[in-house]
Amino acid sequence: MTPIFPESLQQWQSVASSLKFDGRPAIGGQRNEPHSTRTFDLVNPADGQVLAQVPRCGTVEVGAAIAAARAAADHGVWSEQPAVLRAEVLRKLATSIEVHGAELALLDSLQMGMPVSLAVDDIGLAARKLREAAAGAERLQGASLPSAPSSLALNLRVPQGVVAAITPWNFPLFVALSKIGPALATGNSVVLKPSELAPLACLRLADLAAEAGLPPGVLNVVPGLGSEAGQALALSRQVDMVSFTGSTATGRLLMRAAADSNLKSLQLELGGKSPQVVLDDCGDLEALAQALADGLMFNSGQVCVAGSRLVIARSLAPSLVPLVAEKLASWRFGHPMDPVTTLGPLASRHHLAHVQRFIDHAHAQGLAAWPSPMGGGPGLPTPIVFSDVPADAEIAQEEVFGPVAAASSFDTDDEAAAYANNSRYGLVATVWCSDAARGLALARRIRSGAVTVNTRTRHTPARVSGASLEPVRESGFGAEGGLAGLLAYTRARHLLLNLPA
Ligand code: NAD
Repeated sequence: MTPIFPESLQQWQSVASSLKFDGRPAIGGQRNEPHSTRTFDLVNPADGQVLAQVPRCGTVEVGAAIAAARAAADHGVWSEQPAVLRAEVLRKLATSIEVHGAELALLDSLQMGMPVSLAVDDIGLAARKLREAAAGAERLQGASLPSAPSSLALNLRVPQGVVAAITPWNFPLFVALSKIGPALATGNSVVLKPSELAPLACLRLADLAAEAGLPPGVLNVVPGLGSEAGQALALSRQVDMVSFTGSTATGRLLMRAAADSNLKSLQLELGGKSPQVVLDDCGDLEALAQALADGLMFNSGQVCVAGSRLVIARSLAPSLVPLVAEKLASWRFGHPMDPVTTLGPLASRHHLAHVQRFIDHAHAQGLAAWPSPMGGGPGLPTPIVFSDVPADAEIAQEEVFGPVAAASSFDTDDEAAAYANNSRYGLVATVWCSDAARGLALARRIRSGAVTVNTRTRHTPARVSGASLEPVRESGFGAEGGLAGLLAYTRARHLLLNLPA
């Protein structure tokens, strides 16, 4: 069934007016009244209005969610189902996500400002990722090993057990499903702690999962603050793995918590400062400038893989940088529910101030600046490219997480590789070129979780299934996506059976 989406601002507003904001935690297959009476506000960044007050879950609620997940894992209600049956439930859930796409997209959009047209696209992508994880887990294989004829020796892949998924606000449901999909497909039980900025779509997901037939306790969702609910998960001895996407600073805290508790497994997908390298043989500068602008501006630059470092051949930089600034204006700021809007406000006033500080600092350093001719808007700073940025400048090294790029020039491919690798991050890199062999040679030298040539990883026509990305350096560790991403949610187990003579 093809879901039907509203087609105008008025239609979206009418759907939004009937939305219910249910922030109660989902534990043991149902919504529960929280123990704590404390709440936190969810604020719509587009108008500053409080959307809802959500229970601030603490150790009691998190403890109950972990206990439910533990019981489900220990009784094998999900882990001991055949993978094909698990996959059937997950496919039902994927269809349900698509059917409820308008509601889920609106929830994400209202909470963190993403234009609803982009959120719709993202939720479709999330449903596809869920199906991909289900299909991959159906095909996961162990191995039988050479052994004496009187024995049977097997290598198995078994679930980790209880997985805590801790997720950020930039693509709330998509990132949550990137974790929940492979975790559930491989037989784990999950406790999800979504970002305190955007928990509502993730909570709805728990309702949809229960309706799709997921047994109680297999997926639990607890809204709360990182320092409370997040830490309680990180320090629990009943949690076998934390799968985290968020900032490098929080990633460090999670490593400490794992060390201080039960040495749980970790998967950390952290910050980025992705280079887009432009070689001097590039031809169509108009199209290239648009691609560079698009790689920066998607989701207002609040993307871990945003191409925010432009590394441009010196001969092209004087013409290309102003062209990129011009193309920034092709992104249309407006009401997030208006289908023609492609650029929304940043996710919070706090984050806006954070981004503005980086911009002010770069101006104070006297860096040449190329602002978007369209300017910004309420909640969004003017998108901007700084040029001739020294490699060690703050704006070239720190993750800004907004519509801000730092452009620098190079003379040789050696210099380009050195510049691209001069970062504490290593998530994604892109090389733009005409000579594919030269581009590939450079791509192989860039140390990054993914390197793309003449395309970007997300939201391009070259959408790929089965891609595995494992960050390097302070962008984290542990693969996401594809076979390696599934295996990350499993452990190796050896089984040796001695057969009676
Ligand atoms: P964040 O680290 O502040 O928060 C992420 C999550 O961690 C939230 O749910 C938060 O409540 C929780 N948290 C915070 N402190 C915690 C603690 N002490 N213990 C346990 N949990 C805690 O990140 P954010 O601001 O929500 O998201 C932006 C960051 O996420 C950026 O750095 C971005 O690059 C990164 N990100 C990375 C990827 C990736 O795939 N590598 C994808 C999206 C976002």
